[in-house]
Amino acid sequence: MLKGKNAIVTGSTSGIGLAIAHSLAAEGCNIMLNGFADKAAISALVAELTKTYSIRVDYSPADMSKPNDIADMVSMCDRVLGSTDILVNNAGIQFTAPVDKFPTDKWDSIIAINLSAAFHAIKAALPGMQKRNYGRIVNIASVHGLVASVNKAAYVAAKHGLVGLTKVVAIENGEYNITCNAICPGWVHTPLVQKQIEDNAKKAGISEDEATRQMLDKQAMKRFNKPEQIGGLAVFLCSDTAATMTGSPVIIDGGWTAE
Ligand code: NAD
Repeated sequence: MLKGKNAIVTGSTSGIGLAIAHSLAAEGCNIMLNGFADKAAISALVAELTKTYSIRVDYSPADMSKPNDIADMVSMCDRVLGSTDILVNNAGIQFTAPVDKFPTDKWDSIIAINLSAAFHAIKAALPGMQKRNYGRIVNIASVHGLVASVNKAAYVAAKHGLVGLTKVVAIENGEYNITCNAICPGWVHTPLVQKQIEDNAKKAGISEDEATRQMLDKQAMKRFNKPEQIGGLAVFLCSDTAATMTGSPVIIDGGWTAE
């Protein structure tokens, strides 16, 4: 379905981003990987995707907290793969503390990586997309782009901002056949969430199983969303079926925000 298209997936060395890279690759899309991992793991990942899906794969080491790195990542994708047709802004970090105790440097990093990075990448990718009259931008927001949880001031602010940015990019670029949507997942069991399970268990003096049960209590379905389900949703948003779907926060949260 996406044969011949080229996609950047930020933060695709782990978790949701990695699953999105696999899902797009399975549709024939060439992939520019990005994210942190050791050299051997990155080489293995590039080789695995190339071999499994018979596509072209490369890797950008861009740090999403650095605007110049982000511009270089988009230029690299244009140069090496030929264009940037699909941009998935997925890289993200988390830190939890009450607002009055929230470390300022953590606030700055979360806003930079979870929100400003998407702005910089979109800004760099749009001119090419406008010229080619085609673009699919998928921003990985969160239920926290729509509702709040305690101790997540920076994350909730960044994700609400990302949903807002999604809408502006959508309405500015509708006539260029460029869509921009946000995916808003509830809990997905990735390293980012595993750390929260461990922190919550330690803080409350409970087992990790009990901490997991308490976290999943937010979702009516009481089970995790799977990374590959987010990957499938990203593919759907790049498909012809979703060609006039734009500016939407798409929720996949086991019922979290229905309550
Ligand atoms: P993860 O920790 O498994 O993956 C994060 C990825 O981002 C990794 O590849 C990491 O190397 C990369 N990354 C981190 N900082 C970076 C930087 N400065 N520059 C480049 N890459 C960087 O986490 P995940 O759970 O897969 O999260 C992916 C996205 O999904 C995030 O934006 C997160 O907020 C969002 N999300 C996650 C959940 C969940 O429950 N896991 C729910 C909703 C939204």
